[in-house]
Amino acid sequence: MDSNSPPVEIFFFPFVGGGHQIPMIDMARIFASHGVRATIIATPKHALSFQKSIVRDQNSSLPISIHILKLPDGVDIADTDMSAAPFTDTSILQEPLLNLLLERKPDCIIHDVFHRWSAEAIDRIGILRITFSGNGCFPRCVQENMARYKPHEKVGSDLEPFVVPGLPDRIELTRSQLPFFARQGGLPRRMTKPDENSFGVAVNSFYELEPAYVEYFQKELGNKAWLVGPVSLCNRNVEDKAERGQKTAIDEQSILNWLNSKEPNSVLYISFGSLARLAPEQLLEIAHGLEASNHPFIWVIGKIFQSTEKEQGSQKNWLPNGFEDRIKESQKGLIIKGWAPQLLILEHIAVGGFMTHCGWNSTLEGVSAGVPMITWPITAEQFTNEKLITDVLKIGVKVGSMEWLSWSSEPSAAVKRDNVETAVKRLMGGDEEAAEMRSRAKDLGEKAKRVVEEGGSSYNDANALIQELQSRRGN
Ligand code: UDP
Repeated sequence: MDSNSPPVEIFFFPFVGGGHQIPMIDMARIFASHGVRATIIATPKHALSFQKSIVRDQNSSLPISIHILKLPDGVDIADTDMSAAPFTDTSILQEPLLNLLLERKPDCIIHDVFHRWSAEAIDRIGILRITFSGNGCFPRCVQENMARYKPHEKVGSDLEPFVVPGLPDRIELTRSQLPFFARQGGLPRRMTKPDENSFGVAVNSFYELEPAYVEYFQKELGNKAWLVGPVSLCNRNVEDKAERGQKTAIDEQSILNWLNSKEPNSVLYISFGSLARLAPEQLLEIAHGLEASNHPFIWVIGKIFQSTEKEQGSQKNWLPNGFEDRIKESQKGLIIKGWAPQLLILEHIAVGGFMTHCGWNSTLEGVSAGVPMITWPITAEQFTNEKLITDVLKIGVKVGSMEWLSWSSEPSAAVKRDNVETAVKRLMGGDEEAAEMRSRAKDLGEKAKRVVEEGGSSYNDANALIQELQSRRGN
């Protein structure tokens, strides 16, 4: 940055909790490490989930801070998990946010599109804004061409594959893998709207991961975008990795000790992200599939769908009889009920595979760790991300999940134990196909680590944005 002018100031306005908040906090920390004065805007409860890492950054003299919005007493949009459901109405934050922007007039604000009112409100007061939607260029290109060409309207059934036209690769989907609201009629362009009057789009991705789609997104679809990821790589010390998102359910040292006792590349890590709620019957299928595959695993059992009031909040054990004792005794598996330190686990040398729901962050974190994946998409744009992993990058195998499910609707045991067993054996078994996937994944992981270092493409993109903001100051 030009040393004679005051540092560029960027505000970051993350959504509350999970897969949207986590990467934006990382992004703010990255810009601070480039010399930007970074301010994260949060509510009192919300800030609790990331303030320790920010204090650590401040102690290392990074120009980063949290601004807590003033809300009426006892009001907050974050729940006890310090998160909020995806469709939570956050408009109560509008007035304090606009007041803050008018008072401080930052060079720009990067805002999450899940604050659905924010684009219009910020435009009204004329502050430069950049959108953040949490996903990469590939899923956005697919979504845009689905909306343009509506190929799903030309097939006869929900399971008949169609090709998404106009893309650099042959990408096939089925109607069953689309959101319910999109299966009939056109796809609304809900998420592209906030981009329309924005200065551009901040993306948690890197050029080398999806070059053809970055070009397509920028040149064909006309977006101005800065790719500054993988943002998770800004977490360089154990504390940052262990405390990212939420407090972990078991202390990280016992997880690391368990992993230390395993051979390199031998352990499968299984997680479905921060939101997914699996059916109890699905847990049974996974447990049986894992036991039959006979490979060591760490399984994060997050939220479980509980249909009756009696079950809600109960500590009922949904796993097969004796399963937990057997895996403990044989040292075959470690179960984490609740939040896991995902970055620490993924980067451990013993971890050789990741069974993932294909959330964009998890996808990118798997890529950054150089780990091949078993893809098990459930909702959102995860079915699209699956195609990137398996069909474009060729670093994963599909478990065979075919049915998109709304995050709030009742799940079933959609994937059977045999499919789990087959996918685990295919990925972890060490035959030629698995070895090739592993080697491609390792290559990509090395690229990911290089792009965030000085001179790398993401490092340069962050600087390019800062310079652009600086040069606008004179105007
Ligand atoms: N995560 C974690 N521990 C968990 C579950 C999730 O650290 O036990 C993190 C994970 O590393 C990722 C984010 O939460 O950064 C989940 O985002 P993703 O886009 O993968 O999925 P979502 O939760 O949005 O469905």
